[in-house]
Amino acid sequence: QYRARSAFKLLEIDKRHRLLVPGQVVVECGAAPGAWTQVAVAAVNSLPQAKNKSQGMVIGIDLQSVHPVPGATLLDGRDFTAPQTQLQVLELLNGRKVNVVLSDMAPKASGIKGLDHENIISLAYAALRFAAQNTAEGGSLLCKIWEGFMTHQLISDMKRSFRTVKIVKPAASRGDSSEAFLVAKELFHEPTT
Ligand code: SAM
Repeated sequence: QYRARSAFKLLEIDKRHRLLVPGQVVVECGAAPGAWTQVAVAAVNSLPQAKNKSQGMVIGIDLQSVHPVPGATLLDGRDFTAPQTQLQVLELLNGRKVNVVLSDMAPKASGIKGLDHENIISLAYAALRFAAQNTAEGGSLLCKIWEGFMTHQLISDMKRSFRTVKIVKPAASRGDSSEAFLVAKELFHEPTT
Protein backbone atom coordinates (compact mmCIF):
# COMPACT_ATOMS: atom_id res chain seq x y z
CA GLN A 1 0.00 0.00 0.00
CA TYR A 2 1.57 3.27 -1.10
CA ARG A 3 1.22 6.47 0.89
CA ALA A 4 0.46 8.55 -2.20
CA ARG A 5 -0.46 8.03 -5.83
CA SER A 6 2.84 9.68 -6.78
CA ALA A 7 4.36 6.20 -6.28
CA PHE A 8 2.91 5.22 -9.66
CA LYS A 9 4.86 7.97 -11.42
CA LEU A 10 8.15 6.63 -10.11
CA LEU A 11 7.14 3.02 -10.83
CA GLU A 12 6.21 3.97 -14.39
CA ILE A 13 9.41 5.96 -15.02
CA ASP A 14 11.58 3.27 -13.44
CA LYS A 15 9.95 0.51 -15.49
CA ARG A 16 10.63 2.44 -18.68
CA HIS A 17 14.05 3.93 -17.91
CA ARG A 18 15.51 1.33 -15.51
CA LEU A 19 16.98 3.60 -12.87
CA LEU A 20 16.78 1.57 -9.65
CA VAL A 21 18.60 -1.73 -9.07
CA PRO A 22 19.25 -3.73 -5.87
CA GLY A 23 22.35 -2.54 -4.04
CA GLN A 24 22.22 1.07 -5.13
CA VAL A 25 22.58 4.12 -2.91
CA VAL A 26 19.66 6.52 -3.42
CA VAL A 27 19.30 10.09 -2.18
CA GLU A 28 15.70 11.22 -2.42
CA CYS A 29 14.93 14.95 -2.21
CA GLY A 30 11.38 15.92 -1.28
CA ALA A 31 10.36 12.61 0.28
CA ALA A 32 7.14 13.41 2.21
CA PRO A 33 4.80 11.60 2.63
CA GLY A 34 7.12 8.78 1.61
CA ALA A 35 5.57 7.03 -1.38
CA TRP A 36 8.68 7.31 -3.59
CA THR A 37 10.67 6.20 -0.55
CA GLN A 38 8.58 3.03 -0.38
CA VAL A 39 9.22 2.36 -4.08
CA ALA A 40 12.95 3.08 -3.75
CA VAL A 41 13.39 0.85 -0.66
CA ALA A 42 11.84 -2.10 -2.49
CA ALA A 43 13.74 -1.45 -5.73
CA VAL A 44 17.23 -1.13 -4.22
CA ASN A 45 16.55 -3.77 -1.54
CA SER A 46 17.58 -1.53 1.34
CA LEU A 47 15.49 -3.28 4.02
CA PRO A 48 16.68 -5.84 2.75
CA GLN A 49 13.66 -7.87 1.63
CA ALA A 50 15.61 -10.17 -0.69
CA LYS A 51 18.44 -11.86 1.20
CA ASN A 52 20.08 -13.13 -2.00
CA LYS A 53 20.39 -9.67 -3.58
CA SER A 54 22.72 -6.87 -2.60
CA GLN A 55 21.46 -4.38 -0.04
CA GLY A 56 21.03 -0.78 -1.09
CA MET A 57 20.59 2.38 0.91
CA VAL A 58 17.91 5.09 0.78
CA ILE A 59 18.24 8.53 2.35
CA GLY A 60 15.17 10.77 2.09
CA ILE A 61 15.02 14.48 2.87
CA ASP A 62 12.01 16.76 3.28
CA LEU A 63 10.99 20.07 4.83
CA GLN A 64 7.96 18.29 6.25
CA SER A 65 7.92 15.43 8.68
CA VAL A 66 7.71 11.92 7.25
CA HIS A 67 6.53 8.82 9.08
CA PRO A 68 9.31 6.24 9.22
CA VAL A 69 9.73 4.01 6.20
CA PRO A 70 11.52 0.76 7.17
CA GLY A 71 14.70 0.50 5.14
CA ALA A 72 15.14 4.25 4.66
CA THR A 73 16.91 6.92 6.68
CA LEU A 74 14.77 10.04 6.72
CA LEU A 75 16.11 13.52 7.36
CA ASP A 76 12.84 15.35 7.79
CA GLY A 77 12.20 18.89 8.87
CA ARG A 78 15.17 19.90 6.75
CA ASP A 79 15.74 22.04 3.70
CA PHE A 80 17.65 20.09 1.07
CA THR A 81 19.15 23.29 -0.33
CA ALA A 82 20.81 24.11 3.03
CA PRO A 83 24.51 23.21 3.13
CA GLN A 84 24.19 21.66 6.59
CA THR A 85 21.50 19.26 5.33
CA GLN A 86 23.75 18.09 2.52
CA LEU A 87 26.60 17.66 5.02
CA GLN A 88 24.33 15.40 7.08
CA VAL A 89 23.60 13.35 3.97
CA LEU A 90 27.34 13.02 3.31
CA GLU A 91 27.90 11.90 6.91
CA LEU A 92 25.27 9.20 6.51
CA LEU A 93 26.87 8.10 3.25
CA ASN A 94 30.14 7.68 5.12
CA GLY A 95 32.25 7.69 1.96
CA ARG A 96 29.83 5.75 -0.26
CA LYS A 97 29.06 7.34 -3.60
CA VAL A 98 25.45 7.93 -4.60
CA ASN A 99 24.09 5.95 -7.56
CA VAL A 100 20.76 7.69 -8.04
CA VAL A 101 19.45 11.10 -6.97
CA LEU A 102 15.67 11.39 -7.05
CA SER A 103 13.97 14.74 -6.71
CA ASP A 104 10.21 15.12 -6.51
CA MET A 105 10.73 18.43 -4.67
CA ALA A 106 8.16 21.07 -5.42
CA PRO A 107 7.68 24.51 -3.88
CA LYS A 108 4.31 25.57 -2.54
CA ALA A 109 2.53 26.73 -5.70
CA SER A 110 1.73 30.45 -5.73
CA GLY A 111 -0.51 30.14 -8.75
CA ILE A 112 1.75 32.53 -10.66
CA LYS A 113 3.04 30.23 -13.37
CA GLY A 114 6.34 31.92 -14.12
CA LEU A 115 7.23 32.25 -10.45
CA ASP A 116 6.35 28.64 -9.63
CA HIS A 117 8.41 27.56 -12.62
CA GLU A 118 11.45 29.53 -11.47
CA ASN A 119 11.13 28.15 -7.94
CA ILE A 120 10.93 24.51 -8.97
CA ILE A 121 13.81 24.98 -11.42
CA SER A 122 16.00 26.31 -8.62
CA LEU A 123 15.17 23.19 -6.57
CA ALA A 124 16.09 21.07 -9.60
CA TYR A 125 19.43 22.89 -9.82
CA ALA A 126 20.08 22.07 -6.15
CA ALA A 127 19.50 18.38 -6.93
CA LEU A 128 21.68 18.64 -10.04
CA ARG A 129 24.59 20.26 -8.18
CA PHE A 130 24.39 17.65 -5.43
CA ALA A 131 24.26 14.83 -7.99
CA ALA A 132 27.16 16.20 -10.04
CA GLN A 133 29.33 16.36 -6.93
CA ASN A 134 28.35 13.19 -5.10
CA THR A 135 27.23 10.65 -7.67
CA ALA A 136 29.38 7.75 -8.79
CA GLU A 137 30.52 7.60 -12.41
CA GLY A 138 27.59 6.21 -14.42
CA GLY A 139 24.98 7.35 -11.89
CA SER A 140 21.65 8.96 -12.62
CA LEU A 141 19.29 11.75 -11.63
CA LEU A 142 15.51 11.88 -11.88
CA CYS A 143 14.05 15.27 -11.25
CA LYS A 144 10.56 16.78 -11.31
CA ILE A 145 9.96 20.12 -13.00
CA TRP A 146 7.08 22.28 -14.07
CA GLU A 147 7.86 23.14 -17.64
CA GLY A 148 8.58 26.68 -18.71
CA PHE A 149 11.13 29.05 -20.17
CA MET A 150 14.06 27.68 -18.13
CA THR A 151 13.55 24.02 -19.05
CA HIS A 152 15.98 24.05 -21.98
CA GLN A 153 18.74 25.76 -20.04
CA LEU A 154 18.37 23.19 -17.25
CA ILE A 155 18.55 20.32 -19.76
CA SER A 156 21.70 21.73 -21.33
CA ASP A 157 23.27 22.22 -17.90
CA MET A 158 22.42 18.60 -17.05
CA LYS A 159 24.13 17.50 -20.25
CA ARG A 160 27.39 18.92 -18.91
CA SER A 161 27.40 16.11 -16.32
CA PHE A 162 25.20 13.35 -17.80
CA ARG A 163 25.55 11.63 -21.19
CA THR A 164 21.79 11.39 -21.77
CA VAL A 165 18.94 13.61 -20.58
CA LYS A 166 15.33 12.89 -21.47
CA ILE A 167 12.14 14.71 -20.65
CA VAL A 168 9.31 12.35 -19.74
CA LYS A 169 5.67 12.73 -18.82
CA PRO A 170 4.34 9.65 -17.07
CA ALA A 171 0.69 8.80 -17.67
CA ALA A 172 0.27 8.96 -13.89
CA SER A 173 0.88 12.74 -13.94
CA ARG A 174 -1.61 13.43 -16.73
CA GLY A 175 -3.74 15.65 -14.49
CA ASP A 176 -0.97 18.20 -14.13
CA SER A 177 -0.21 19.59 -17.56
CA SER A 178 3.08 21.36 -16.83
CA GLU A 179 4.56 18.57 -14.69
CA ALA A 180 7.38 16.66 -16.33
CA PHE A 181 10.41 14.67 -15.22
CA LEU A 182 13.97 14.85 -16.43
CA VAL A 183 15.77 11.53 -16.56
CA ALA A 184 19.54 12.07 -16.68
CA LYS A 185 21.73 9.02 -17.02
CA GLU A 186 25.40 8.07 -17.11
CA LEU A 187 27.06 10.74 -15.06
CA PHE A 188 30.60 11.44 -16.15
CA HIS A 189 33.21 13.37 -14.21
CA GLU A 190 35.54 14.14 -17.10
CA PRO A 191 34.19 15.44 -20.38
CA THR A 192 34.75 12.90 -23.17
CA THR A 193 35.34 13.72 -26.80
N1 SAM B 1 7.78 11.98 -3.75
C1 SAM B 1 6.89 12.20 -2.59
C2 SAM B 1 6.06 10.97 -2.39
O1 SAM B 1 5.91 10.20 -3.35
O2 SAM B 1 5.56 10.75 -1.28
C3 SAM B 1 6.05 13.44 -2.81
C4 SAM B 1 6.84 14.71 -2.76
S1 SAM B 1 5.86 16.18 -2.80
C5 SAM B 1 5.27 16.21 -4.44
C6 SAM B 1 7.06 17.46 -2.81
C7 SAM B 1 7.80 17.61 -1.50
O3 SAM B 1 8.95 18.47 -1.71
C8 SAM B 1 7.00 18.26 -0.39
O4 SAM B 1 6.82 17.34 0.66
C9 SAM B 1 7.88 19.44 0.06
O5 SAM B 1 7.91 19.62 1.45
C10 SAM B 1 9.24 19.03 -0.46
N2 SAM B 1 10.18 20.13 -0.60
C11 SAM B 1 10.00 21.30 -1.25
N3 SAM B 1 11.09 22.09 -1.12
C12 SAM B 1 11.99 21.39 -0.38
C13 SAM B 1 13.30 21.66 0.09
N4 SAM B 1 13.90 22.83 -0.16
N5 SAM B 1 13.93 20.72 0.83
C14 SAM B 1 13.30 19.55 1.11
N6 SAM B 1 12.08 19.22 0.67
C15 SAM B 1 11.42 20.14 -0.06
